[in-house]
Formats: sequence, C-alpha cells, structure tokens
Amino acid sequence: MTGVGTAPARVAAPIPFAAMDGRDPRLMRELMAAVESVASRAAFTLGDEVDGFERDFALYCGADHAVGVSSGTDALLLCLRALGVGRGDEVIVPANSFVATAEAVALTGAKPRLVDVDPETHTITGEIVGGAWSSRTRAVIPVHLYGRTADVAPIVELARSHGAAVIEDACQAHGAMYRGRRVGTIADAGCFSFYPAKNLGAWGDAGAVVTSDRGLAERVALLRSHGEGPRHRHSVCGTTARMDGIQAAILRVKLARLDVSNERRRRVAAEYAAVLNEQLLTLPAPAAPDHDHVFHLFVIEADQRDRLRHHLEEQGIATGVHYPRPIHRQEAFAYLRMPEGSLPTAERLAGRILSLPLHPSMTAETVARVARAVTESGRERASSTALGAA
Ligand SMILES: *Cc1c(COP(=O)(O)O)cnc(C)c1O
Repeated sequence: MTGVGTAPARVAAPIPFAAMDGRDPRLMRELMAAVESVASRAAFTLGDEVDGFERDFALYCGADHAVGVSSGTDALLLCLRALGVGRGDEVIVPANSFVATAEAVALTGAKPRLVDVDPETHTITGEIVGGAWSSRTRAVIPVHLYGRTADVAPIVELARSHGAAVIEDACQAHGAMYRGRRVGTIADAGCFSFYPAKNLGAWGDAGAVVTSDRGLAERVALLRSHGEGPRHRHSVCGTTARMDGIQAAILRVKLARLDVSNERRRRVAAEYAAVLNEQLLTLPAPAAPDHDHVFHLFVIEADQRDRLRHHLEEQGIATGVHYPRPIHRQEAFAYLRMPEGSLPTAERLAGRILSLPLHPSMTAETVARVARAVTESGRERASSTALGAA
C-alpha cells in the first residue's frame, strides 16, 4: 500500500459500504471448517447439507418447506413457473426494485406489469395493486425493499378474491417480522437471495423458496433439477438451479447469527436517525412494530444527491444508489413502452435516493463520521446558494 510518510496523517480510514466475513476471525474459522467438511465428503450439489439448511431455514421462517436453489432470481423464476405463470399472463411488480423481480416474470413469458410505489415506504400497497389489476393478472410480487416489510396483507386479500397468487420478494429482508410472522410466510410463497451482500449471504450465489404449500414446494424442487424424479425420469422441463452444498454449509453457520446481526443493523439505523440532520435530508420513514425493518440498506433522500455522493466519496465514505434507473426505464424493458413520466414516484426517487454505509459491525463513531460528512455537504451547499443569491 502507501509507503511510510506518503499518506497525510489526517486522512481517516475509508468506510466500506458493507462488512466482510473475513474481518471476523472466529466466524472465518467456523466457515472454513464448514467448507472443509463439505469438500471432504464431496457433497457439492444438493445432498445432506442442503437438506439441513432447508430444514433450518424453514423452521427459522416458520414455514413448512424451504427449497434451496441457485439464486434469488431462480427462486422467483421457478416459483412463478411452479404456479403455472406464463405467456398471456400479467404479474404486478414494483418499478423500483432490483431488475431481477421483473426479469423473472419476463423469463416465464408473462408480462411484468410495472407499477409505481408509495412515496414514503418505497413499496407497493393494496391500493396501487388494485389500480393495476386486469383480467390477465395471475400474480403479484411485493418487494420488502431495503429490508422494510411491504404491507402484504391487503395485497393477499385482493389477490385471493381474484384467485391470483402473491409471491413475496424477500431478497432484502431475511428475518424481518410482519404482523408477528417472518417475511416469506405471509403470502403463497417467499423468495430469498443469499447473494454475499444480503443480510444472510453465502460465498457465492444461492437462493431459496419458502412456502407451506407442499405441492408448490415439490414443483419448485422438481424444476431446479431438470424435472427429474425418480432418477432418469423427467416429467417436466426444468433447469440446473440447485443449491451448492458449500453454500448451504456456510448459510447454516450464518443463519444462527442472523437475528443478532439484524438487531445490530437496526441499532446502526437508529444511530443514523439520531444524528442525521432532518432539515437537509429525508430519512427512512419510521417502521411500525407490525411492519419491521431489518435495514439491508439505509436509504436517505437528498435534493442534490450526486453532489452529496461525490462529497462523501472524497471523504473515503462508500455509498450506493439502489436503484438509479427504475425498471420501466431500462433498455431490457423498452418493449413495455412506458415513457418517462409514466411512474412519477419511482422516477423522482431514482434521482434522490442514496444508500449510506450500514453493516452490523459499524460503530457509533463511524456513524457519527458519516453524519458529519453529510451535514458538511449540506452546509457547503447552503452557503454557496447564499453567495449565489448575493
Ligand atoms: C438480490 C435481489 C434479487 C435477486 O437475487 P440474486 O440472488 O442476485 O439472483 C431479487 N430481488 C431483489 C429485491 C434483490 O435485492
């Protein structure tokens, strides 16, 4: 790295956006032992360790079944396919989510019906879903965005009255509680991603479908491995979308720590809320006890987002934007012909949102340093505006 004496002493250490397992030696030892155990048994694809994780995760969520798959995107795709969604159908999804939510729908041949979101919670509501309903609507995918639980109950009620399905995209909200239940168990099924940066992260790609519908769980399990069962008999066209044994072993170790790490995330978020200046920014709307938030991301809104982001970067503070372009404005979805202005809230948010660093091991001092840098940027702007006016 930098040679002795070349780095100015007053430059503070960079603040990373997310934590890494490698920083916790005890956790690393446990994870390496888990990997070694799988490798020594060559249990690489499905097998004991995946069965074990499926049991652990179903029990943790409070569902009858969990099916381990290769990613969150595959969880959504296989779940939709298992529900029989395909060409000619419409599935309602929010325009401000990771692209995978809509992609999974498009990959089945169905049409993603992209809708706007609530300006406070950035999630879809029963009212929004009701306004987008058509005779072709077969399913709805509410997203528990940033770790905040979407208000799923009214959406489930509406869908039931039409005989449609609801799949929770819980890829950013592992362990969050909604009306006394874990996310993923409120609707017909819940889909999870264990991409490394998620609240429960593997050492590569992995995902799961959680459900208490036995038939649905069996169809997802069939589809993830070439529709095979019994051996050499293929009843449907599936794919290769199995969970790896090594990922399952890692996830079992980390699942045991999930509630503690979510609690730390909430604490960091509360510290941010206490020290950030609300006159300069919009902070995340408070979570109600029945609508938990596990802070996968801490997302603020700022008038001069790009300027603020640049200022933080100069101070060594990593940030993110989730997401800078709503799904209906992505090239891949141009065929939906939704011009600029069609979903005003999602579009407005895309230009204002900023994700601040947040991870379970973040200290109050680090939070305070980020908050100071944010305030500084706001003051700079205020004084330059004043000069400009003079
Ligand atoms: C991460 C994510 C996905 C996709 O998960 P992968 O494991 O990356 O395929 C889907 N939806 C949301 C909201 C996500 O954050």
